[in-house]
Amino acid sequence: MQRGHVEVWSSCLKIIKDNLENEYLYKTWFEPIRPLQLDGKVLTIQVPSQFFCDWLEENYVDLLKKTIRREIGNGSKLQYSIVMDSGMPYSTLQPSTDKSATYNKPINVPLDINNTPSREFPNPFILPGLKKLKINSQLNDYLSFDNFIEGDCNRLARSAGYAVSKNPGKSSFNPLFLYSSVGLGKTHLAHAIGLETKKNYPDKTVLYVSAEQFFQQYSQSVINNTKNDFMQFYQMIDLLIIDDIQFFAKKTGTQDAFFHIFNTLHSAGKQLVITSDKTPAELSDFEQRVISRLKWGLGADLQGPDVETRIKILKNKLYKDGIEMPYEIIEYLAYNINTSVRELEGALISLLAQSSFNKKTITIDLARQMIDKFIKSNVREVSIDYIQKVVCDYFNISVDNIQSQTRKKEVVRARQLTMYFAKKLTKHSLAIIGSQCGKKDHATVLHACKQVVNQYNTDKNYKTWVDDIEKKIAD
Ligand code: ADP
Ligand code: MG
Repeated sequence: MQRGHVEVWSSCLKIIKDNLENEYLYKTWFEPIRPLQLDGKVLTIQVPSQFFCDWLEENYVDLLKKTIRREIGNGSKLQYSIVMDSGMPYSTLQPSTDKSATYNKPINVPLDINNTPSREFPNPFILPGLKKLKINSQLNDYLSFDNFIEGDCNRLARSAGYAVSKNPGKSSFNPLFLYSSVGLGKTHLAHAIGLETKKNYPDKTVLYVSAEQFFQQYSQSVINNTKNDFMQFYQMIDLLIIDDIQFFAKKTGTQDAFFHIFNTLHSAGKQLVITSDKTPAELSDFEQRVISRLKWGLGADLQGPDVETRIKILKNKLYKDGIEMPYEIIEYLAYNINTSVRELEGALISLLAQSSFNKKTITIDLARQMIDKFIKSNVREVSIDYIQKVVCDYFNISVDNIQSQTRKKEVVRARQLTMYFAKKLTKHSLAIIGSQCGKKDHATVLHACKQVVNQYNTDKNYKTWVDDIEKKIAD
């Protein structure tokens, strides 16, 4: 019996989910997709925007192709259908970048009612014909996209931010919700979006405010009895950026004001960019209706940068400041400071200050002393490479064995242990771990982990090995 589009797509999703690096990517790029129809071997899926469609093609075309072929068989085709934003059609649909002709793009399907933002809050303050505001956007020119170094850690957030500034209010990323722990670039990216939007649309009114500033203004307006002016002002902004919204916790009056401003702006097709140190779901002491709005658009997180990105960030900073520094020192800093970009920059500044105050040339020794003094508490990032090295050293075999396809007992053992520790001690997905341990798939990794646990519980010698290795990794 032939399966329907819903069934086929749900089987595809299972495969896709298993092959993605993390759950978050799945939630962002695959959960919003709806299967529409299966006509012979042509599966049509609905995506929320043109940007979304391009992103899938750029990043996931191989995965989609393989998955669909597996589910539907040879000769299968995938067709995208893009939801049209009410009243602002994405008029030009670029040709597919995929030349294999397996993928057709796109047909436009009428607007999905459920996806349309509600229009229940007409703006009572903005009068037709009222002049545009000229305001100080409070943007810092240095915090531009040019100076924001791209890496795996921030690619999604950066691209989404960039897309927003190309098309503010018109993408499905509204609000764009950026979150991360401190010092990883939220504020920088928020400014970059503001600056780029102003560059693209000089007539648009862009405003960056910290949540704290917003709260202060709101409180003042309550005291001065000018709340209407406050509301009216905010409802005239085209791109409103609110930084560190977690600050609104417990401040119900401010949350109410924000809620109404949000609704008015959103329903008028204006863009909101919000940053936070938590996901919407994790924000505590927030009204549920506010949280629900924050979840409307796209949530994108910023992760700690990997070592290559850290090197690029340092180099860019030195270049902009016109300072030269030996590469080995840049590398030394980048390898040793992995907590946040802010600390990385802080260490660089301290090092420069040390050398200029004491008239010392910057040497590795100076860098080492400085790091020891200032950043003792840093935790070393355990990498899969490092785990491989410790495990192989322990069994006295060469690291290359892990990558080989050999089934020799001691190599299989080392490979399984590497997978087990990588799963336990790193944040990498099963797919990534597998790919770095001899190009295995996620199921092999899972199997390996189970094997290790079984043997650990039944074999005394094995248990000793595992405990020893874990200690060595932690040293
Ligand atoms: P957050 O708001 O998340 O606490 P910030 O945006 O203030 O972090 O970033 C801290 C510092 O690190 C800033 O000086 C910022 O310019 C810099 N920074 C963060 N991410 C990057 C990046 N990807 N490229 C260059 N500089 C960055
Ligand atoms: Mg910040």
